[in-house]
Amino acid sequence: MNVPFVDLKTQYSGIKDEILSEINEVLDNTAYICGKKAKKFEENFAKIHDVKYSIGLSTGTDALHVAMHALGIKQGDEVIVPVNTYIATAEGISLCYAKPVFVDNDEKTYNIDVNKIEAAITHKTKAILPVHLYGQPAEMDSILEIAKKHNLNVVEDCSQAHLATYKGKKIGGFGVIGTFSFYPGKNLGAYGEGGGVTTNDEKLYDFMLKYRQHGSLEKYIHDIEGHNYRMEEIQAGVLNIKMKYIQKWTDMRRNNAKLYTRTFESLGIEEVITPWHPEYTDPVYHLYIIRVKNRGKLIEHLNKNGVQNGLHYPVPLHMQKAYSHLGYKPDDFPVAKKFADEILSIPMYPEMTEDMIYYTCSKIKEFYS
Ligand SMILES: *Cc1c(COP(=O)(O)O)cnc(C)c1O
Repeated sequence: MNVPFVDLKTQYSGIKDEILSEINEVLDNTAYICGKKAKKFEENFAKIHDVKYSIGLSTGTDALHVAMHALGIKQGDEVIVPVNTYIATAEGISLCYAKPVFVDNDEKTYNIDVNKIEAAITHKTKAILPVHLYGQPAEMDSILEIAKKHNLNVVEDCSQAHLATYKGKKIGGFGVIGTFSFYPGKNLGAYGEGGGVTTNDEKLYDFMLKYRQHGSLEKYIHDIEGHNYRMEEIQAGVLNIKMKYIQKWTDMRRNNAKLYTRTFESLGIEEVITPWHPEYTDPVYHLYIIRVKNRGKLIEHLNKNGVQNGLHYPVPLHMQKAYSHLGYKPDDFPVAKKFADEILSIPMYPEMTEDMIYYTCSKIKEFYS
C-alpha cells in the first residue's frame, strides 16, 4: 500500500467542475485581482471565524508582516514567538526590523509554554505572537492575561488552524489580529499563494486594507506608504468554493486523528507518544504529530513500506543560521531541542481511508516488535 503524506488531487477531483467554472468566470470577467470574489471571500471568511472583518492577502507571511506593521512594530522593538514554528512567524517580525524573542514549547501541547513567557518580556517587548501549531489552539486565556498585565498586543498565527476552537470560540478573534495562510497544503488551501487577516478592530482593519494596496483605497490617492499584498481573484474563487466544504473536511481530519490515536492505543506501542489536547480545545489536525524512539530507523522502515512522512520542524528557529545573529545557544530551549529529535509527522488529510490509517499504524507497530 502507498500512503501519501498529503493528497490534493483526490479533493480536487471531487470539486473539479465547480472550480473550473469559477476560474472560467474570472477569466471571462477579466477582473483578476481583488474583485467581487475576493470581497465575497472576505465576508464569508470573517463569518466562519466569528469576527467583524477579514482581508484577503497574497500570502500568510505577508499577513504576518502587515499585522506587525499595523501595530507600529519597528526597529528596536521585540516580539515574543514560540521557538518551534515555521520560520514565517518570525519573519513577520524581522520584516519590520524588530527582534523575534523566542520562548520554548510546552511539553504537552507543543505550543508556546505560557509559563516561560513572562521571563522573556523586557521594556522593548511590544507584542506576543502565539502560533496555533499543527492546528492545536495555543493557551489563549493565559496569553491574554499576561499581555494585559504588561500592556502588550496579541497577534495569533492561525496558518495551521482554520476553524479550531478554544473554549468554544474560534481562533483568530482572541488577539487584536489573526493571520492566516491559504498555501495549497493548509487546511483551507488555494491553488497558488494566498493569505489573510481577521480582526474586530476597525482602525487596524482600515490600516491593513490600505497597506495591502499601496496605501490607497481610491486609485492614485495614497494616504500611507504601503505594499502590494493583494489577493488574486482566481484564488479567491477557489477559496469560496472550498469554504463550502471546510467544516466537513475539518470533521474528517478530526475523525482521522481519533482513529489514529485509538489504533495506536489498541496496538499498545509504548514507543509512540500520540497528540494530547486539553478538553476545552478542539484542534483541526493540520498535522498529526507523534513522538517516537529510534526515529531515523523508523523513517527508513516507513519509506520502504510506502508510508510518506515529514518533520515539522527538523531545526528549531534558534538553531537556524538565519537567526544566528540573535546569539542563542542550542541548549537555550531544551524542550524544542528534544522534540526536534523525536517528532514525526505521519499522513493526515481529510480523504484518508481507514485502511490507510490502519496500515500506517501497523507498519509502525511492525517496526517496534
Ligand atoms: C504556512 C505558514 C505560514 C506562512 O504562510 P505562507 O502563506 O506560506 O506565506 C506562517 N506561519 C505558519 C505557522 C505556517 O504554517
